[in-house]
Amino acid sequence: MNKNLIVLGLSIGLLSCNQTTKEVSVKEQIILTEAAAEPTKPEETEVWGAKPKTVTVDARTGIPSDAIVLFDGTNFDEWISATDSTAVKWDLNKDGSMTVKDKAGDIQTKRNFGSVQLHLEWRSNPAKRLSGQNRSNSGVFLQNRYEVQILDNNDNGTYVNGQVGAIYKQAIPLAKASSPTGDWNAYDIIYHQPVFDDKGKLAEKATITVLHNGVLVQDHFQIQGTTEYIGWPKNNVHGKQPIKLQDHQDQSGVSFKNIWIRELED
Ligand code: MG
Repeated sequence: MNKNLIVLGLSIGLLSCNQTTKEVSVKEQIILTEAAAEPTKPEETEVWGAKPKTVTVDARTGIPSDAIVLFDGTNFDEWISATDSTAVKWDLNKDGSMTVKDKAGDIQTKRNFGSVQLHLEWRSNPAKRLSGQNRSNSGVFLQNRYEVQILDNNDNGTYVNGQVGAIYKQAIPLAKASSPTGDWNAYDIIYHQPVFDDKGKLAEKATITVLHNGVLVQDHFQIQGTTEYIGWPKNNVHGKQPIKLQDHQDQSGVSFKNIWIRELED
């Protein structure tokens, strides 16, 4: 068997083993073409299918043209209380941010989301100098149940799978990229929702990639299930769900601004 036939055999094996793949990827197409006929002409490896959509980015705000703006500093129109679905009781600030109101409860988006690209900015409160998990603790929950931790870890230690940038109690961040206490941080999150089979059993785990201030802190981590404070991850079937922001009820004083989201294909 020559080299080309070996490559072709491997490629077909890849395709037949991965029955969940709906389309042959560009990479696999190229491998097949290479195997079938070598040498090739340039056009044999060109794909002239449907074009990717055009997205422009606002030069002032940095918001992509196809994003849903969840918070621009002017109102809570996209949000409700996660406790009782009433109006948000957090503080709306004059500088275009909002601040957790202690013991007012978590807030969540009115809309439900599946796989997303999410941008949000947050800052800790330098006036609150509690320790460990009680210093500017908040969090962003994908699909209302998978938490990316928000915490002020500057000169403040805690268990590393619960520090800033952790997938709470599941994934230690690859780095601590925090801004100085009181300065703004940015999270950019790429999240793909889990897949459940027709019996409600988990078939594919959710995955998450997180950039903290542009630094990769979670690299396509496979989420093990719900991010529990006590106990182990659970995987009960669910569909699209809200994005949730946490009131940790420790006078955290965490603020948020500039939150936008893009819906992704699964
Ligand atoms: Mg938290």
